[in-house]
Amino acid sequence: MSLGRQLKSLAWHGVKAFSAMAPSPSRRSSVTVFTLHRLIPDACSELEVTPAQAESWLRSITARYRVLHGSEFLSPAPDDRPFALITVDDAFSDAHDHLWPLLQRLQLPVVLFVPTHFIDTGEPPVSFAVERSRYRPCSWEQLRAMAASPWITLGAHSHAHSEAPTQRTAELAADTEAALARFTAEGLPRPHLYAYPRGKFTAEAASVLGNYFDAGFAGLPHHSLPGDLARMAWPRVPLRGSDAGFWGERKIRNGISHEEYWVERIKGRLK
Ligand SMILES: [Zn+2]
Repeated sequence: MSLGRQLKSLAWHGVKAFSAMAPSPSRRSSVTVFTLHRLIPDACSELEVTPAQAESWLRSITARYRVLHGSEFLSPAPDDRPFALITVDDAFSDAHDHLWPLLQRLQLPVVLFVPTHFIDTGEPPVSFAVERSRYRPCSWEQLRAMAASPWITLGAHSHAHSEAPTQRTAELAADTEAALARFTAEGLPRPHLYAYPRGKFTAEAASVLGNYFDAGFAGLPHHSLPGDLARMAWPRVPLRGSDAGFWGERKIRNGISHEEYWVERIKGRLK
């Protein structure tokens, strides 16, 4: 059993025993935002799931929610069903090779968040990339083809994939403008949605990025920001490798992941 699964097994008992005590993760909207990273046939890490597993989850999401297109995220037309937005981070080559064909088949829209330096150089936005052939980005040509389809809205994910809280205001603004300039230079629409690298943000970073984007997406459940900055602190429900099967279905059914709170607490204690 992997460490992730063991932790989740532990967390499951924590959820049952202490869910009444857990602080409610931010859920100020009827839109539930899910996150995937990579679809790889030989998936073997937390950021990777098989295309078959992804298809199973996407079918479960469409059975329960009306899945929003990125362009209607902030003002969806009324619907009897709850809303979901599906987001995918990092724009690895499998977004083109495995995700896009699946979306075309299911006729399902997602927002793909693109760290532009990765596309330019192939430098992976993850520090543990030892097997480099496994960490190839999409090409700009592939991104143009996907963005021209109804199923992919491109979002910004910084230029250098540095965590926003580690940057001073001027650095964060410069990185953001570098990313937006690359979209423009490649003939792509200017993104209006932003995902924080590694999901990390502060009120200061949200304030800077709010000058450029309509909405910002974080990682784990967290407390929202006040006032206008709330739009720059959307929580997301991550669907990870160790969520395969039961845990992913549970997250989809609940639309929120209290278990994430406990998993992170337990991981924090083990560090
Ligand atoms: Zn990322």
